[in-house]
Amino acid sequence: MELIIAVVLVITVTLLYTLFIRANDIPPADPVSPTAHLDERKAAIYENLRDLQFEYRVGKLSDADYQQTKLSLQKELAGVMAEIDRVMQGAPAVVEKAEKPKPKTQPAYVCRHCGKQFKTAMKFCGECGKPMS
Ligand SMILES: [Zn+2]
Repeated sequence: MELIIAVVLVITVTLLYTLFIRANDIPPADPVSPTAHLDERKAAIYENLRDLQFEYRVGKLSDADYQQTKLSLQKELAGVMAEIDRVMQGAPAVVEKAEKPKPKTQPAYVCRHCGKQFKTAMKFCGECGKPMS
């Protein structure tokens, strides 16, 4: 009797353990398409364009304001569309690398006393005359 209980217990524990591990093992499916955030932005821009047109029609906006805002929205839209195209083609993201400023060639020898910099090593500072180490 005890043996049966033990066996059942072991089986149950093993089963639970297996299920538990399995549930964690399965990688979560990626429900978000790679362009999801871009699609959202696109939709938002379209909405803005609609709002803009509405406001223009009801006379809330001047011609110039309307044209300017429309243009900037269209530019943004074009950018998003290009981004979507790029993502769809699987191209790697263009990472804008900031140009590293070239390290200034610093004189190797700096006077500890006055801070004067020299290109060559000297026993005494040419500026303040104190010994340079
Ligand atoms: Zn000096």
